[in-house]
Amino acid sequence: MSLVIIAPSKKNTRFWQQSLSESLAQLGLRVNVEIWPEVEKPEEVLMAVTWKHPGESLYAYPHLRVVSSMGAGVDHILKDEHLPLHWQVVRIVDQELTTSMSNYLLAAVLNYHKQMYRYLQLQQHQQWGYTETPEIPLKPGILGLGELGQDIARKLQALGFDVAGYSRSPKELEGIHTYAGEGELDAFLQRVNLLICLLPLTRQTRGFLNRALFARCQPGTYLINVARGEHLVEEDLLEALQQGQLAGATLDVFRQEPLPADHPFWKQPDIVITPHIASVTKPEAAIPQVAENYRRMIRNEPLLNKIDRLAGY
Ligand code: NAP
Repeated sequence: MSLVIIAPSKKNTRFWQQSLSESLAQLGLRVNVEIWPEVEKPEEVLMAVTWKHPGESLYAYPHLRVVSSMGAGVDHILKDEHLPLHWQVVRIVDQELTTSMSNYLLAAVLNYHKQMYRYLQLQQHQQWGYTETPEIPLKPGILGLGELGQDIARKLQALGFDVAGYSRSPKELEGIHTYAGEGELDAFLQRVNLLICLLPLTRQTRGFLNRALFARCQPGTYLINVARGEHLVEEDLLEALQQGQLAGATLDVFRQEPLPADHPFWKQPDIVITPHIASVTKPEAAIPQVAENYRRMIRNEPLLNKIDRLAGY
């Protein structure tokens, strides 16, 4: 039995190989863990553990059954539209990753709310900048009430904010105003003045944050995107900022990463940029989940954190 790691952009594949072999051995499984492209017996590979695998690299294994992401997102796997439907796709869900994302978002929301970036800029020019600035009641709205969206929704609500959330199917979350489906999107957008995008990247959500959506928001809405760069139509954000339809943005993800040096976002004073660090999966948390899924796969038991191939997340 074999497992292949396909992640040429990752520098820690040897660590994954070693730790995964140990985790599998602890479960009593003798599995040969190999790193693409050096795979001795492709016909023995049952599972691939991937991050941004190159084009055809998954198709060399005639008995492949499961493709596991090395992180929370699976869009890098599913962007291959020819992936056989009988291959099961799983991802990593980890409490530490969720907490880390919520900490990033709390920082972004509170920094915006208390205008900390403005004071930092004033400080650089030795300016006191005192003004009477009554706090505008902040009404955060979370796009996507999944693993990450629900956690930040609850934490913002616990801080006293009036929180709303939007998802595909209806949700009931105590103390949170929930909306579902396109039919309720306007009501959601009209209720909030800060939008946090935590949607998965799917055919339906690619380009979701666009000119038409911004026009449906309350004027002066603030945007935080920590999901995927492809959710945002970048030119539309610049236009909405210029027109004052949006007040500003904090962005952790971009269409092209690293963000090119000549990208207009760098010079936009009302955009805060972070280099896709909102929350990073730790191999120590992910590896035992991958090993456990290998065990379940060979016993034909239901896999952990399996995604719905038709929904795309
Ligand atoms: P998840 O658990 O799969 O939750 C997705 C949520 O989005 C669900 O509530 C789902 O609705 C909703 N949704 C899906 N399609 C929708 C649509 N068309 N319209 C409205 N709602 C829709 O995802 P997650 O684990 O919370 O991850 C969220 C995002 O964070 C992903 O894009 C992931 O890649 C990204 N991420 C970023 C970082 C970073 O460092 N920046 C780190 C980790 C994850 P239902 O509840 O009805 O299914």
